[in-house]
Amino acid sequence: MKFAPDLILYNGKIITVDAAFSIQEAVAVYDGKFAAVGSTSAVKGLAGKGTKLVNLEGRCVVPGQFDSHVHFLLAGLDALGSKAKVDIAQLQSIEEILDAIRKRVATTPKGKWIGTSCMYRGALKEGRFPTRQDLDKVAPDQPVYIFQSGKNVIANTFALKLAGIDGGTPQPVEPEGWIAKDASGQPTGHLIAGAGDMARKAWWAKAGQPIKKWDFLYFDRETQIEAIQAQQAIYHSCGVIGVRDMGTATDELDAYIEAKRRGVLNIRTDIILGLPFRYLSQQEAATALDCYFGPKQHFGDAMLKIGGIKLVLVNDGWWAYSREKLNFLVRAINRHGWNMAIHVNTGGGEEPTEVVLSSLEEANKDAPLAGRRISFEHGFGFGNPDHIRRAKALGIVFGANPLLAYYASARSMRMNEIMTQVRIAKNVENDPWKRTVRDWALPMRHWFDAGLTVTGGTDNPAVAYDPDQPFLCQYSALTGMTLAGKLLPEHKITREELLRMFTINNAYARWQEDSLGSIEAGKLADLVVLDTDILTCAEEKVKDIQVLQTYVGGNLVFEKRA
Ligand SMILES: [Zn+2]
Repeated sequence: MKFAPDLILYNGKIITVDAAFSIQEAVAVYDGKFAAVGSTSAVKGLAGKGTKLVNLEGRCVVPGQFDSHVHFLLAGLDALGSKAKVDIAQLQSIEEILDAIRKRVATTPKGKWIGTSCMYRGALKEGRFPTRQDLDKVAPDQPVYIFQSGKNVIANTFALKLAGIDGGTPQPVEPEGWIAKDASGQPTGHLIAGAGDMARKAWWAKAGQPIKKWDFLYFDRETQIEAIQAQQAIYHSCGVIGVRDMGTATDELDAYIEAKRRGVLNIRTDIILGLPFRYLSQQEAATALDCYFGPKQHFGDAMLKIGGIKLVLVNDGWWAYSREKLNFLVRAINRHGWNMAIHVNTGGGEEPTEVVLSSLEEANKDAPLAGRRISFEHGFGFGNPDHIRRAKALGIVFGANPLLAYYASARSMRMNEIMTQVRIAKNVENDPWKRTVRDWALPMRHWFDAGLTVTGGTDNPAVAYDPDQPFLCQYSALTGMTLAGKLLPEHKITREELLRMFTINNAYARWQEDSLGSIEAGKLADLVVLDTDILTCAEEKVKDIQVLQTYVGGNLVFEKRA
């Protein structure tokens, strides 16, 4: 080498996650890329005058971790204190939730909206959800909604009135959603799936705002950019350097682009666009695709690129589109040559999978899908051998969300009764354990054995990343452990599979395995220094692994204070 490396890390146990899963001792970084990977003696010998030398003192190094399923900007809005949403993600009782909202009410003008983060995904202490009456007690004079999860909201009476929903409102058309009602026939405030959509549509119209895929409240560009920065700081502290932002709204994409222009975007972001197909007719969706979806896919670079389009079929057992509409969308998107990340199913049993696979098989006749890396998001309950065989034939990538399973299984077990009452998942399964396994188990052994590419992700903000336990998601993936116990004790994956899931497989899913996802000469220098050897530590210890340093493109972006 005629040039001196900028940085050399040596005397480590470097798990490269290359094809041979080799372990090395040292890396040299030049101009943001790995210039050499090898033994300490060989690599240290490359040092020149300006080279920064870091003695790893035997510590374990892994490639930068990825989160393959996150609503990143949305999650960032929960991290901005009083500037955006009320963060209730870790509050485990209704009392605490109401307290947090009460504090926000005190500093918010009457009539002005207050929205929250997603609610804690485990079980609440009271064993029930908050109601509009609970919310009215702390917020009688302004609209409030709790982002319960996915498409469900809990609104106070003020917000319900704005949506035009009362005891006389007819239920949405089955199987789209449900207005939860109490014994006297009055709404409890809990709006499930399509009922939430109904309210959002009314709220947007009243606020003069356009519809979007997910959440209701809009924030201005500067707040969005701050949200990206706040969330990326959290991710760096957890060793995560890359994300797939699932269902990005077009104004959110604009915020990412502006953040990149300003040089403040430092998390490798693959944008999976979210069009509000739920609210569009087939004809409108076709027009949108024809007008706006030229050759933008895969445009960008290692920091920000456009990766594909998100589709969501079944949420909490409720269908966002009919079988016909899904079929139409899948074929239209495929004809435009676009990739898809498909949220097939949460809480809906096996039928949605059958529907999606049939649609893809039909689309496959229009234009072949193998090699396109279309992903199935979440993967909960996906264990039917026939489905796995057909997914393999189509080259589907499987996106597992173990952190969501970890928390949500506890809610499913301990709040089964109230979830049945408000019809979260309408396919009622009376036995809470059976329901929990059906809705939240990840039969990953089957996937790996079938040779499928499996990626790891969280579904943040449905569940929040905890910087005190940055590897909790990996822990749940490795052990199958959740807050409700092990859902499928016989499904064990290896540590090599675990490390591939959160690194190189993610890079593959985003078509960047040539430049990201492993520690190899020529690739971008993203790595994480851990305090524990993730290959040899006891399984229980994986959840306690701490991140000491995170590097993105050779730059130190996080260092744990001693
Ligand atoms: Zn999601």
